Amino acid sequence: MRRELAMLTRDFRQYVQALEGPGRDEGRRPETAESRPPAVPLKSLDELCEEAQSCVRCGLCKTRRNVVFGEGNPNADIMFIGEAPGRDEDLQGRPFVGRAGQLLTKIIEAIGLTREEVFIGNVLKCRPPGNRDPEPEESAACMPYLEKQIALIQPKIICALGRISGQLLLASRGRSLASMRGNVYDWGPDGKVKLIVTYHPAACLRNLQYKRPVWEDMKRLRDEYRAMGGAI
Ligand code: SF4
Repeated sequence: MRRELAMLTRDFRQYVQALEGPGRDEGRRPETAESRPPAVPLKSLDELCEEAQSCVRCGLCKTRRNVVFGEGNPNADIMFIGEAPGRDEDLQGRPFVGRAGQLLTKIIEAIGLTREEVFIGNVLKCRPPGNRDPEPEESAACMPYLEKQIALIQPKIICALGRISGQLLLASRGRSLASMRGNVYDWGPDGKVKLIVTYHPAACLRNLQYKRPVWEDMKRLRDEYRAMGGAI
């Protein structure tokens, strides 16, 4: 337990150090002792993925078939983050590949992008049995993977898919999805990443009335990206 805690603390420290280091715009800040990259550099996405494959930080390692690390453009400007893999994802080891995934692909294409241009993943990398909500200790154990992914990819916009993902990214347990969506949040230590929360595609399949608000959220995301100079 003490070793796990030490690993989590180290992971979080590396994440914060990486965010405080030089950004995409090389040379934007003069290199000083304070702004130098961390002594222990972050792993590459591939190395992080490899590490996750054998992860036993929480009990979900006992019931998973595959670790679903996420996939897409390692330099994506936009990340879509759900809560956890479902049955199809667990079987295939890939995110959003079932019916909900097909709908997400259509949603991404509707704003002029492809799956290959964005990065798609989940907060948790292993499926909770029966698709139950993740336990707080499971989310806490897995969050460092997502934090490292974000630090490595350096997206401009994150779209949280669903209530659990929105709550975890906004660190506001208990908040309803309706209260989280409709806003563009300044997110991260320096507030430079934009965060948008919308309904999970699986919820849209169950409740067709959610499709309109999702489309409104995607137009908001597209407008934000265009305002940043994104060509969509
Ligand atoms: S859910 Fe995350 S923390 Fe838990 S075993 Fe899987 S990869 Fe590790």
